[in-house]
Amino acid sequence: MEFAVHATGLVKTYGELRAVDGVDLQIPQGSFYGIAGPNGAGKSTTLRMLTGLLQPDAGNADVGGVTVWPNPLKAKSLLGFVPDNPVLFERLTAPEMLQYAGMLRGMNPAVIAERATELLHVLDLEDGRDRLIADFSLGMLKRIGLGVALLHNPRVIVLDEPFGALDPVNAQVIEDLLQRFRAGGGTVVFASHVMDVVQRLCDRVVVIAQGRVVAEGTVDEIAQGRNLQDAFVDLVGGRDLAEGELTWLSSWSD
Ligand code: ADP
Repeated sequence: MEFAVHATGLVKTYGELRAVDGVDLQIPQGSFYGIAGPNGAGKSTTLRMLTGLLQPDAGNADVGGVTVWPNPLKAKSLLGFVPDNPVLFERLTAPEMLQYAGMLRGMNPAVIAERATELLHVLDLEDGRDRLIADFSLGMLKRIGLGVALLHNPRVIVLDEPFGALDPVNAQVIEDLLQRFRAGGGTVVFASHVMDVVQRLCDRVVVIAQGRVVAEGTVDEIAQGRNLQDAFVDLVGGRDLAEGELTWLSSWSD
């Protein structure tokens, strides 16, 4: 099997904390791949190491057959990354942002213009084309962030919580575009703690807790007949309410 992303032994330590503690990943080409885990599990740190933004203390990653560290530039040309809060230039409009991103990537201006027009249309950003990014809603920020990440037509797109806090219309626009990208042969990797989205979209999922992989497989293998949310809570250690706890709650005397 061909892997779009292959990571071995990724480690990142902050002081005493091993935020990522030896993560291996094998992400098949053309898959929709979910990285699940509770808050603070190490998902973002892992993504930043995969995408060439954060140098691991140990381990390495391959993206599209290119070793990311210590020279991440080539790998960056093969991937697009949409962080949780996309870092954009706030004094630009969406068309200007796309043009600028294309120029930074050294793309042909005619290709940038053609793709930018199409992306603005598909991402439903045409009406706000004169607005500065500083005035964008969260949904618009996520949409333009995805446009910037897709402009150079990467082989792999990596997203950190792409659907977090988005309304259903915004989420649908992003999902449709990701499905389209995947249908053309691209690989989608995204981190999320929203399990129904992971269950609905992903072929495979890895569950990370406290910086380590605790499970990996197809969604069915991980869910084992339950919904993914219940499987997830079992895997990462949720706590059931015990008999006798919170007995005062909703017990009114009048
Ligand atoms: P997740 O994305 O799963 O919520 P993160 O990768 O953001 O988790 O964080 C993993 C752990 O590393 C958390 O405990 C977080 O507080 C810590 N951490 C992340 N980045 C830094 C940093 N730059 N400095 C110190 N601690 C960090």
